[in-house]
Amino acid sequence: MNIHEYQAKALLRSYGAPVSDGRVVLRAEEAKTAAGEMDGPIWVVKAQIHAGGRGKGRFKEPEAGEKGGVRLAKSVEEAATLARQMLGRTLVTHQTGPAGKQVNRIYIEAGSDIARELYLALLVDRQTSRISFVCSTEGGMDIEEVAAHTPEKILSFPVDPASGLSDFHGRRLAFALGLEGAQVKQMVALSKTLYRAFVEKDMEMLEINPLIVTPEGQIRVLDAKVSFDGNALYRHADIQALKDETEEDPKELAASKFDLNYIALEGEIGCMVNGAGLAMATMDIIKLYGAEPANFLDVGGGATKEKVTEAFKIITSDPNVKGILVNIFGGIMRCDIIAEGIIAAVKEVGLKVPLVVRLEGTNVEKGKEIIATSGLNVIAGDNLSDAAQKIVKAVKG
Ligand code: GDP
Ligand code: MG
Repeated sequence: MNIHEYQAKALLRSYGAPVSDGRVVLRAEEAKTAAGEMDGPIWVVKAQIHAGGRGKGRFKEPEAGEKGGVRLAKSVEEAATLARQMLGRTLVTHQTGPAGKQVNRIYIEAGSDIARELYLALLVDRQTSRISFVCSTEGGMDIEEVAAHTPEKILSFPVDPASGLSDFHGRRLAFALGLEGAQVKQMVALSKTLYRAFVEKDMEMLEINPLIVTPEGQIRVLDAKVSFDGNALYRHADIQALKDETEEDPKELAASKFDLNYIALEGEIGCMVNGAGLAMATMDIIKLYGAEPANFLDVGGGATKEKVTEAFKIITSDPNVKGILVNIFGGIMRCDIIAEGIIAAVKEVGLKVPLVVRLEGTNVEKGKEIIATSGLNVIAGDNLSDAAQKIVKAVKG
């Protein structure tokens, strides 16, 4: 789960990280008052979307002006004007894709003077199964670019969970970042703060880009991107409350409410499968026969009729779907129950595209009979290969 920059900063502030004063606004009318609560002479007006690269992004609407989603204002009035220009507009960055994202929240922050821009991140490193620090002197830039062209400018090291974080980790970061004197102490303290927040809140990634050094020699968190481990959210009601549903794919949101593992993709064949492995195999075989899956969907081992119906609704709500392939292996689940679920779902949701159903496993004959005698226009698949070829043929002709 992702959160906004302003939420990440509030969280890090509560742990004691050096973060500037800021206010979030949802309506343009609130911007002037919010900016007025902070001292100038500079205010930063920042579009809040779940994507990076906002500074270099561009708005689709000309009314939003030529500049990106991070702008500097020299007065409270200018900050309000910039907020008005950006609210409700669509910001396109290299992370949003060409469709962009609508800006519904603006963060106004007391502006900082910058001497240096650095990069600092914490992430779960799957290679070492540990939490790793990543840092670079090339802050403010796209870290993927730095990694591609000057990988020697990135330092990364894991933290041993048995011994935990020590001062030397922080010093190692400080020296790699070229910090001196009192800044080394600040870095040691910051590394501890971030590590504690990361572990306590079950974060998956915490990226500060840039971490700045001010002309006075203070280090400060200027941007913050945090994502949390979805499987640990049940123990963090405070983090769950930060979820901004307008940032999520509506189909994925609906699926999560019914405990369906759904991921939207770009293809034309909707898939309904039980089991993640079978779902992967189904997507592979669709590609093998020359089409593309519209989604990954694992309805789970014990799918009920209601769940199957919801899954159908989600699949058919995708305008890209030109055909549906249902591929169910009845292990714990019985094929006749699934067949009844499919029929009920088709009757409730309606069906405007071809549907191929392949059933295998417990009570398969009964299941096939239910579908064959349902009177609905359902194409039966004999096996995975046959079913995939039939749906591709039905869609592509
Ligand atoms: P991103 O483009 O989505 O990564 O947004 P950032 O929050 O990282 O802002 C982009 C850039 O705007 C930063 O790298 C800074 O160069 C600049 N910026 C952000 N906040 C301030 C500020 O308080 N003062 C100044 N002078 N520049 C800022
Ligand atoms: Mg940034």
